[in-house]
Amino acid sequence: MQMQLLKERIQKDGLVEDGDILKVDSFLNHQIDISLLEEIGKEFNRQFEGKEVTKILTIEASGIAIACITARYFKVPVVFAKKTKTLNIAGEVYKASVESFTHKNTNTIIVSKKFLKPEDKVLIIDDFLANGKAIIGLSKLVEEAGATLVGAGVVIEKGFQPGGTRIREMGIDLHSLAIVESMDPANGVRFRED
Ligand code: 5GP
Repeated sequence: MQMQLLKERIQKDGLVEDGDILKVDSFLNHQIDISLLEEIGKEFNRQFEGKEVTKILTIEASGIAIACITARYFKVPVVFAKKTKTLNIAGEVYKASVESFTHKNTNTIIVSKKFLKPEDKVLIIDDFLANGKAIIGLSKLVEEAGATLVGAGVVIEKGFQPGGTRIREMGIDLHSLAIVESMDPANGVRFRED
C-alpha cells in the first residue's frame, strides 16, 4: 500500500533530474523532515505488522535516519552496513559488494559479525529502490549471517527500473511506500495506481 502523505510531498518538493534521479533532499536525505519520517516509520510498522523483527538493517548514509525512526516503532536496534573501498577486509565482518546507482562505483559493504546473528529476524529499510543492488547486497549479508530476512521496506521505488521485479522474484516481501511509474524533468512524477 502506498502512502498518500508521502506521494503528495514528492509531488510538491521532489525534483526530477536527468539520469533518472529523483531528488528529495529537501525532506528525505539531506534536510530531513522528522514529522514525515515518523509517519513513514509508523507506516512500515503497520505494513509489517505481525511479523517478528529483531533488527533493522540499512546501508549508509541516507538509509540511516529512516531506519532509526522506523526502529522506534519496532523497538529494535538498527544496524547499518558500512561502505568501504578496501576489498580484502580480514576478520570479523560479513561483506558483500554493491554497485552504487547514484555514484556508479562499487563498494564493499560490511557488517560486524557481532551485530547479525543466526537467530535474528531482519527487516531491511532503504530510501530508494532502483536496480535493487543495495537491497540484494544487504540480503546477502543476512544470508551470510544465517539470519532470517523478514522483508524489505523502501520509501520510494522507481517502478520503471528493474529492482522491484528482481526483489519480488527473489521471494522477498517488499513494501514500497511510493512507487513512481514514470518521471521526467518537464512533467514531474507519476505514481503507479494502487
Ligand atoms: P539500487 O541499489 O536499487 O540500484 O539503488 C538504490 C540506492 O541508490 C539507494 O540506496 C539510493 O541511495 C540510491 N538511489 C537510487 N535512485 C535514486 C534516486 O532517484 N534518487 C536518490 N536520491 N537516490 C537514489
